[in-house]
Amino acid sequence: MSKTITSGDVQDMPKVELHVHLGGTITEETARDLAGRHGLNPTEALRLVDDQYPGTYRDFSDFLDTFLASNSLVRTPDDLYLVAQRFARNQARENVVWSEVIFTAMIYVRNGMDPRAMWGALTAGLSEGGEGVRIGIVVDVIRDLGREEAEATIRLVEAADAPIVGLCLTGIENTVPTIDFTVMRDASNVLDLGLEVHAGEMGPPSSITDSLDILNADRIGHGVAADRDQALLARLIREQVPLDVCPTSNVAILAEYPSIEDHPVARFWDAGVNFTVSSDDPPFFGTTVTQELMKVAHVASLSQDDLLELQRRAVRNSFASEDTKTWSLGKIRSWEQESP
Ligand SMILES: [Zn+2]
Repeated sequence: MSKTITSGDVQDMPKVELHVHLGGTITEETARDLAGRHGLNPTEALRLVDDQYPGTYRDFSDFLDTFLASNSLVRTPDDLYLVAQRFARNQARENVVWSEVIFTAMIYVRNGMDPRAMWGALTAGLSEGGEGVRIGIVVDVIRDLGREEAEATIRLVEAADAPIVGLCLTGIENTVPTIDFTVMRDASNVLDLGLEVHAGEMGPPSSITDSLDILNADRIGHGVAADRDQALLARLIREQVPLDVCPTSNVAILAEYPSIEDHPVARFWDAGVNFTVSSDDPPFFGTTVTQELMKVAHVASLSQDDLLELQRRAVRNSFASEDTKTWSLGKIRSWEQESP
């Protein structure tokens, strides 16, 4: 019988987080600091309730309004550095040894930021987490913006001097068809990058199938809609397709999951789905990766060994180099041996 898990144990445990958007890590404090830098009144510039993000949202567009209010304040390379630095330091506090952070490069370039300055500020900020923290960048394309956006993003990635480990398709499913993004699969192959596709979050199960059959996605972001299609779920289990599951994000945005108890994560665990747990946009949902793991441990009755296995699984599902995978597994093993 393994011991009761505490959030202190989970915070202390070396963790691997594969799905967190850099723009989604801007805390209320950072957003206020950025508003101040640009001479704006935070109360007017941000969508805060009692000085906090609302935490839950009517729907995705309500969330997006809050997200964009804060993200529109990241205007200079120095702003980007600040956001990246605070993210890296937060991952250090949370003992996340390997993170894959999703970064929408085109937003900044379209707003006039010089790409070289952008990658430089991002890379410098992400390196501020100290010795125990490594971070890889996953550059995303917002699906709604179509194939040209994907091509422009790929050109940016090809020219970048930054620790990029993957490409990612985000945005609203069922806006632009998946077939339009085969350029992302081709580029991932040529550049030796992983490919993650957000699918089966707000969209139907067929969005997951398309991501696998058309893009040969290496990982699915969310994928919770598979809970509504037993044949697809069986396939995900049979093929051990990696899913990045972010339970609080789904509860905060999607009407079909009023609470964590309604979310499929416990069924996924019992059925043997190859999922890992991430925070997505943590301050916007009032959560942390530690809290996400605690919630999953609670609803799926996980032991400490199960949580450690989830971290090892995240290493296996990651886009990290072999060196970083070995290093991350070593951190997990050492902690396991030292923990009582
Ligand atoms: Zn996401």
